[in-house]
Amino acid sequence: PTSQQDVEQWVKGVCRYCGTGCGVLSGVSKGKIVAVKGDPDCAVNKGKLCVKGILLPKIMDTEDRLLHPLIRKNGRLVRATWDEALDLVAAKFKEAISQYGPDSVAYYGSGQNYAEEAYLANKLFKGCIGTNNIDGNPRTCMASAVAGYTTTFGKDEPMGTYADIEQADVFFIIGANMAEAHPILYSRLVDRKNGNPDVKVIVVDPRRTRTADIADVLLQFVPGTDLALLNSMAYVIIEENLVDRDFVANHTNFMQGEKKISFDEFKSFIADYAPEKAAGICGLPAEQIRAVARLFAAKGRNTMSMWTMGLNQRIRGTWANNLVHNLHLLTGKICKPGNTPFSLTGQPSACGSIREVGALSHLLPAHRVVANAKHREEVARVWGVDPAKMSPKPGYHTIEMFRAAADGRLKALWVVCTNPGQSLPNLELYRQGMEKTFLVVSETYHPTRTSELADVVLPSALWMEKEGIYGNGERRTQHIAKAVEPPGEAKPDVWHLMEVAKRLGFEKFFAYKDTEEIWEEYRKLTVGTKMDLPPYSRLRKEHGLTWPVPDPDGPETYIRYAAPYDPFVKEGINFYGKPDGRAVIFARPQSNAQEMPDSEYPFFFSTGRILEHWHTATMTMNVPEIKRAMPEMYVELNADDAAQIGVKDNDYVHITSRRGQCRLKAKIDGRGQPRPGMAWAPFHDTEISRMINFVTIDAFDDISKQPEYKICAVKIERA
Ligand code: SF4
Repeated sequence: PTSQQDVEQWVKGVCRYCGTGCGVLSGVSKGKIVAVKGDPDCAVNKGKLCVKGILLPKIMDTEDRLLHPLIRKNGRLVRATWDEALDLVAAKFKEAISQYGPDSVAYYGSGQNYAEEAYLANKLFKGCIGTNNIDGNPRTCMASAVAGYTTTFGKDEPMGTYADIEQADVFFIIGANMAEAHPILYSRLVDRKNGNPDVKVIVVDPRRTRTADIADVLLQFVPGTDLALLNSMAYVIIEENLVDRDFVANHTNFMQGEKKISFDEFKSFIADYAPEKAAGICGLPAEQIRAVARLFAAKGRNTMSMWTMGLNQRIRGTWANNLVHNLHLLTGKICKPGNTPFSLTGQPSACGSIREVGALSHLLPAHRVVANAKHREEVARVWGVDPAKMSPKPGYHTIEMFRAAADGRLKALWVVCTNPGQSLPNLELYRQGMEKTFLVVSETYHPTRTSELADVVLPSALWMEKEGIYGNGERRTQHIAKAVEPPGEAKPDVWHLMEVAKRLGFEKFFAYKDTEEIWEEYRKLTVGTKMDLPPYSRLRKEHGLTWPVPDPDGPETYIRYAAPYDPFVKEGINFYGKPDGRAVIFARPQSNAQEMPDSEYPFFFSTGRILEHWHTATMTMNVPEIKRAMPEMYVELNADDAAQIGVKDNDYVHITSRRGQCRLKAKIDGRGQPRPGMAWAPFHDTEISRMINFVTIDAFDDISKQPEYKICAVKIERA
């Protein structure tokens, strides 16, 4: 960005983008961030940054930075004072609560919020207003991973850390394009593989991605047949005697639905998935499935699985997560260095600010749940609120929340640090819903596809303009120092929440002098939960610590559930999230996507991310270098399919589903190549005609409530 010689001081922080959580040092000169470099002392990235990270200074002072509050008057958003805006927000929320009850209002947050922001929102809505209508965009990205860990192990979040990458010999990467979505972790994977011929990489994806460039085996299976494939691998592991019998006998139970079953019953269930049968379902050679299962289970080798949206964004996403865990449990390749099922996360603090803080509609802090009376009491005690005021009923999850806005049940909605007006599936319906309800948006930029629908827009301070905590995908809690002042009248989201709380009559619960006080209150709720978080004073000095950290001055935890790593386990392994200390191996059958191709809509349509952009591109489209490199999104087609429908590279096509249409440039033999019968597009484009979520489906997993962005049926025609 500028010469590093101009820098007056380097301030420690964390990258604003993906869930990898790279440490950054921001160079400050004359009150501006003018440069960024990777933090060499951060264990995540050891000084490296990807293209998005290194260009972070360009997201700060942009033409569309929102500098003052806006209120809608006569159909137009016009400048207002803070008092006018906050008084209006409080009056509308009060009016809705008094006329229709607490469940008529809601808050929709983000894995980009600092932990303190999510914590205060949770306290305001669940503890003071008395509704559990708090959800956030992590619901759409990794709720199935949460449900997968919780159902299998009794507690959320991975047992391993990124350090397992340097210990593993076999990598099983399914439904993740790390080369583009987690590039620094991918670079660690490449480093591990380079010069180590025994290190093997298996990539499982219906689309050939850049991640497959280093694959020893690529399984390009039929979309939506992941459950059959994973069951088939389990079949081979059992049939070829690759099961770790001692581990299974001592540390697992077998379950089918709610019923405990025996190993022999599980074996009968899995008999339907012999590779010779599964091959037809998955569109893969049976011998390839066998070879991959053998590689996964090879004795004396360490196996690490990594996955993300490809498994999570499915109506059976929780089951798919369970089945990856099954493979590790059957082979005993778990809770040892280099042996772990590891779900990658999409946002910088989806774990720290949502899963751990409990800012989803069924959760409370430190992995507690609203339905548990003891949990509500524990939280109420620390919050200083009446436990009777806290509702035991889970609030609206994401899709239900925006449905409630569309059908009039929701009267007022506050959206913070996220852009559902572009990112929700079946978008037309939910954009209409946002127009109907009283919509408050706390945002850094304006207009976004959400702020343009708002009744009030509150200007937010951005990353490094405020102090706070992020928690990345490996349980690493990281501190971000304030480096510069926010521009104009922009204020931290914590301040927005405290001002509204004051106007709603809850001032006494929000008398914090700084973010450290908020953190230390939250930290009390983690003590004794085996999710013990470190003190703020220590986080300010360190470059991130992986919880649990039960001794405030003691070490971080590398591997959970296993001695000698986990401070709560004296010897051996104990999955202490489960009452009997045993993890569950689930019998889960193959199950199709909600919407399958047919004669009218003959293609599978899938969605995802590319290296250059991030989410709805409100930040990355502001970076000139990135915008020049990738100004417009596209759709990838299989070459044979394209020939059949008469489409050439760079032709525009219409993609139409039962819900809507978009128009994109076709890419054939580009960086990603879908298997026949499938099209794929990134969701970053902000131009209405290219927004793919008008096409996607809002069906969701009945356990995790995560929508099925990864599969719907479409027709594709030359435009
Ligand atoms: Fe930022 Fe993710 Fe790139 Fe690291 S890999 S620099 S966290 S975007």
